[in-house]
Amino acid sequence: MPSTDLIIIGGGAAGLMAGVTAGELGLRAVILESRPKPGRKLLMCGNNRCNITSAIPPSQMLADFGEPIAPFLKPALTAFPPDALRAWCHKNGLLTKMQRDKRVYPHSEKAADVHHLFTDLLATYGIGLMLNSSAREIIPQPSGELLVKTDNLELSATCVLIATGGVSYPKTGSVGDGQKMVSALGHKVTPYRPGLAGFDMPPAWIAANPMRSIPNVKLKIMVGGKAVATTEGFLEIEKYGIGGPAVTNASRIIARRDLKNYSFEVDVDGKKWTLNPVRVRPLKEAMVTVGGIELSEINPRTMESKCVPGLFLAGEVLDIDGPSGGYNLQAAFSTARLAVEAIAKQCPTRKKPVHKNPSQKKSAQNNRPQKGRPPREKRHYQNRKCP
Ligand SMILES: Cc1cc2nc3c(=O)[nH]c(=O)nc-3n(C[C@H](O)[C@H](O)[C@H](O)COP(=O)(O)OP(=O)(O)OC[C@H]3O[C@@H](n4cnc5c(N)ncnc54)[C@H](O)[C@@H]3O)c2cc1C
Repeated sequence: MPSTDLIIIGGGAAGLMAGVTAGELGLRAVILESRPKPGRKLLMCGNNRCNITSAIPPSQMLADFGEPIAPFLKPALTAFPPDALRAWCHKNGLLTKMQRDKRVYPHSEKAADVHHLFTDLLATYGIGLMLNSSAREIIPQPSGELLVKTDNLELSATCVLIATGGVSYPKTGSVGDGQKMVSALGHKVTPYRPGLAGFDMPPAWIAANPMRSIPNVKLKIMVGGKAVATTEGFLEIEKYGIGGPAVTNASRIIARRDLKNYSFEVDVDGKKWTLNPVRVRPLKEAMVTVGGIELSEINPRTMESKCVPGLFLAGEVLDIDGPSGGYNLQAAFSTARLAVEAIAKQCPTRKKPVHKNPSQKKSAQNNRPQKGRPPREKRHYQNRKCP
């Protein structure tokens, strides 16, 4: 049976970063992606502009993630914080820029350029990307390897990394397969709720309020006449009710704290209104899933399962969700890198770390004629069309 060092299940933000990190560290790895194209959700991020992170210190980012996520994410975010992600992008030819609110985007403001960065690096490192390949089951073998079954093949590896995402926007491929596979192996999955979602408002309110975008809103979540949390940012009046970061961040807090009978007190330049939302929008429309694989069953220093040796998890498949503003991609990238670094340490067949452009490195050392692929030009990712 074909065997490798690492099988990565899922070719989204976490899986793509895991594949590239495996290449950087000299692992033999393959990504299995269920859809005909990887990174579909990544391409939709930030209205196709891709808010990759927020230029804030990791301590502030962790405080914004809140409990119980912050203590779990601390090792991953400390090892690969927002400034390291930006430096990594710049080193690999993707320039980034920061908005006044600290949100970081590719300089071109095109998610397709982030996508190209990953797919080009996978090709450079020779990391396999198998499309239309849905993993169905993971079976620990007596040899210690893990066998992965897909609809049409079986593969085994020293380690498996599950990066299949949450369950929102299922048309992008994240449908909860990873959670099902690990619960079959004994892991707990915490219930799914919509995070970063809008709210329906009563029809009379919608009729009286034309669709528009209101900046600098302060929103208090009120329960029993008391403010239990505050959010800030844009409020968008949509055809169904209300959305925008001030509101969607509130949905995540409501889901995490399981709040009931809440209302919103909205302050726009000192003018206050009370909003009584009817219900949160459905999970399939939420930008993140609150809920997923229970964090206490995962080692936060390595992302390895405490139930199945050799099984690692990264990204939104875990019970991790963050506020709007690049937090969720940063969490996916940081957890993926930490996992693959831990995998590389325990992988006996690992080669020496690969220089990104081996032929160029050799020619810098001496002028011997080069074999193999010709050196590639340093790429700059700007305004490239997505295939
Ligand atoms: C509209 C929208 C906009 C967003 N904008 C931002 C933003 O600007 N900034 C930000 O930080 N976050 C944003 N997010 C959230 C962010 O996209 C996610 O948190 C992030 O993509 C999670 O990455 P992931 O790799 O864990 O999962 P995903 O990106 O969902 O990737 C999971 C991958 O696994 C594949 N897969 C699933 N099951 C299997 C299987 N059985 N076998 C093989 N492959 C499988 C899927 O097809 C998919 O490609 C946005 C989300 C949405 C929906």
